[in-house]
This record gives sequence, C-alpha cells and structure tokens, in this order.
Amino acid sequence: MTAPDPRQAGTTGGTPQVLLAHHLKQLKLPTVLREYDKVARECARDGVDHPRYLLRLIELELLDRERRTVERRIRAARFPATKSFDTFDFTAIPGLNKMLVLELARCEYILRRENIIALGNSGTGKTHVALALGLAACQKGFSVAFTTAASLVNQLMEARDERRLLKLQRDLQAVRLLIVDELGYVRRTSRFDVPLSPTGAELLFEAFSQRYERGSTIVTSNLSFEDWTSVLGSQRLTGALLDRLTHHVSILTMNGDSYRLRQSASRHSAITAARAEQNQATDESIDPETGEITTG
Ligand code: ADP
Ligand code: MG
Repeated sequence: MTAPDPRQAGTTGGTPQVLLAHHLKQLKLPTVLREYDKVARECARDGVDHPRYLLRLIELELLDRERRTVERRIRAARFPATKSFDTFDFTAIPGLNKMLVLELARCEYILRRENIIALGNSGTGKTHVALALGLAACQKGFSVAFTTAASLVNQLMEARDERRLLKLQRDLQAVRLLIVDELGYVRRTSRFDVPLSPTGAELLFEAFSQRYERGSTIVTSNLSFEDWTSVLGSQRLTGALLDRLTHHVSILTMNGDSYRLRQSASRHSAITAARAEQNQATDESIDPETGEITTG
C-alpha cells in the first residue's frame, strides 16, 4: 500500500501543517520543517516581522545543510580516527614547524594543488597531523580520501585483477585531497617487512602521477627519501615519483621521541609515584627494579 498523497485533499482539505510538512519534505528543507513552529513563536514574542522570520528559518536550514555536508564528506573520507589540531601538542615535537602546519590547516595548498610529505620516526604524530589536515579540508569544503599506502596498493591490484582499474584511478584522481599514510615496507607477517611487488609499485606510482598538478596528496612515511627506493624496488620509479610529488611540496620533518611511548612512560611513573605514596601509608614498599610491591 502506498501512502496517500496529501495533495489529493486539496489546499482546502487537511490541515495546513500536514501539507506544509509534505511540501517541506519534498523540497528537502528538514530544518525549516523542524523549526518553523518554534521560531514563529519566538518571532511573535519578540515582534519580529515576516521577512525576518523567514530569514531566520532559511539561515538555520543553510547552517544545518553545511553541517550535514561536512559530516558526509568526513564519512566519505574514511578516516580511521577523528583527530584535530585542538588535541595536538606542538610542544611535544619542537622540530616540527608549527607556523607551517597551521598555515597548511587553512587549506590554501589544496587550491594550488600542492602536496605535503610528513617524514619521521614512529609515534611522532604523522598520522595525527595528516588526519587533522584531512578534517580541516573536509570542513573547508574539499573532498578527501584517506588510505594507507599498503591498502591503496591492495585496492589497485584488486581493481586491476577485476578489470575495474580505470574506475578506481578516476575516483582517486577526482578527490581534491588524497592522504596516503605509512608509505613503507609492506608488513607481510610480524617478522617480515618486504618491498612492494613490481606491479604494486608501478600502480602506486601511476596513482601519484595521475594526481600530479590535478589534486593535492599528503604522504606520511617513517622512511627517509633514500629508503623509498627499497620500498618501490626501483630507482627509476622512485626518482620519477619523487620528482612529481616534490615539485610543489611542503615537507614536515617529524623526528623525535614517540609520543605514545612518552605518554605511557609518564603514565607509568605517575602510577609508580602514586603507588609509592600509597605504600608509604600502608607500610608497603615498591621494588624499584621489578615494580613489585613488598610488604615491609
Ligand atoms: P605516527 O603516525 O607518526 O606513527 P601517530 O600520529 O599515530 O604517530 O601518533 C601516535 C599516537 O600519539 C596517536 O594517538 C596520536 O594522536 C598521539 N600523538 C602523537 N603526537 C602527538 C602530539 N604531539 N600531541 C598529541 N597527540 C599526539
Ligand atoms: Mg602513522
């Protein structure tokens, strides 16, 4: 059974609220529908005239629509976590050029189709910065896609095997900001990290190359440029890739102590201190070597 069309009742039949709800839904104005009654009461109370009433409603719809679009872009980007610069502690990584990062967060490099490469050892916040830049781009209205290098290579190989490589390549070209996290050796098992296969390397190169001067790419890696050759397995390919990637690029050098390790070390010392304090009160002591509690 289909729902009856409220218009069948004509403008004289049915209540105006039912018709209005129907029309607003059809026009895709959910915020107007949700708010018109409440805003009408507020406007009546404050003596606001009709044009201003309508303006308030339409502005609410616009704001909501923008928020929904940003949320949709964020979902489409497939970020593995939500990270922003609000939660990034720049003092933890003094070698990182904070001014440059904040300038990049304004996303003008995307308009200029420039790239960003973040290099540094593990746990220094490369992925965090890439995610925060991705979020900023979504908020500024750019389409974003996040992937790891390993997953991108897998997707490309799979697409090639299934004869839909062209479609994937077009999708990868179309996005305004592509984030390729963790360019490095492929983790096959916990013990063996290996370079990309020649086909994988070639497909990755093509993906970067097809974006050259078309859209922005962010790459993070814990390997210095010299070591990229061993990942891509070919000096020629690496040279050509770096040539394109670094033509218009901002490089973020992120070497330092691992934030994670430091956090857990300070957590550990906080726990040890708290325990020691507690133990003083209960006449227990803590073995400094093993961390074991001994009753005195
Ligand atoms: P990397 O990608 O360089 O290995 P991550 O970005 O994954 O490092 O950082 C590891 C964890 O530490 C993440 O949870 C991240 O949010 C956090 N982190 C790293 N650096 C900072 C920082 N400077 N301020 C706040 N959190 C950080
Ligand atoms: Mg990372």
